[in-house]
Amino acid sequence: MAAHSDYALPFRIEGQNVNGRVVKLNALASEVLLRHDYPDAVNRLLGEALVLAAMLGTMLKFDGRFILQLQGSGPISMLMADYTPEENGLGGLRGFAQFDEAALAAALKAGAPPMALLGDKAHMAFTVDQGADMERYQGIVPLEGDTLADAALGYFERSEQIGTALKLAAAPLLLPGGKTEWRAGGIVVQQMAATGGVVDIETPPEGDPERVDDDWNRLEILLQTTEDSELLDSDVSGEALAYRLFHEDGVRVFEPRALSFACPCTRQRVLNMLAGLSETDRAEMQAQDNVEVRCEFCNENYVFAPDEAFSAV
Ligand SMILES: [Zn+2]
Repeated sequence: MAAHSDYALPFRIEGQNVNGRVVKLNALASEVLLRHDYPDAVNRLLGEALVLAAMLGTMLKFDGRFILQLQGSGPISMLMADYTPEENGLGGLRGFAQFDEAALAAALKAGAPPMALLGDKAHMAFTVDQGADMERYQGIVPLEGDTLADAALGYFERSEQIGTALKLAAAPLLLPGGKTEWRAGGIVVQQMAATGGVVDIETPPEGDPERVDDDWNRLEILLQTTEDSELLDSDVSGEALAYRLFHEDGVRVFEPRALSFACPCTRQRVLNMLAGLSETDRAEMQAQDNVEVRCEFCNENYVFAPDEAFSAV
């Protein structure tokens, strides 16, 4: 397999029942973010959200779609990133955000940390969708902390109670000639739990509980030594980073999961969605010259004549 610039690299720390991932989004961060025309603060947050979605989506017990959603009443009202496993062994990523530009600029000027941009009573939802006939799993927690990494850790503390440590980073890379590309990356280590949760797990940590705690604390401390540059620099591979941090603990890396941009929207899916609208909404849209629907994830604009848009009804 050719080396991919965008991937989730699974690793395991032998003897400690700890799983991990390094996620690197090099070309892909730009591919998703530059599809939209968002301010840097939104791109940063969405870049980190894509990394988190890829991390957790590739740690699922089953192949399913993993949706990360932040919602609030702040300058950023909604942010979504999702990961979909694809038939060829790839993982598809996409995302979008909704925000009020003026309110966002004011909040940034006042020095608001990233999570404060979603407002006071914001929450974070993790959804696992395994397809039409399967049960959806959803976990929702209030947004806590200043950063998306803090918020994700809050989630694991509250709902999963699985020891988790992670770092996320996203940043613009200014190229000669004034062009901007984006890079995003992250690393997570997670204790394997006996049951439940969104992670793939078999057995609880073995041995003396105190020693397990000491070992775990050590891994957390090591993980915190990860520099943003190690997550963002395309010259630092996920494997090199995993070995740099955990070689003394017996880290073993597995085949990376290549990631790419994917949006499954199609004309037909949009038509199906239109067919599900209420009478009132339909009447309103039918009165217009054209029915236009924009996919928020990929920015594709679907235009229908009114009789085509509702012919399936
Ligand atoms: Zn789309």
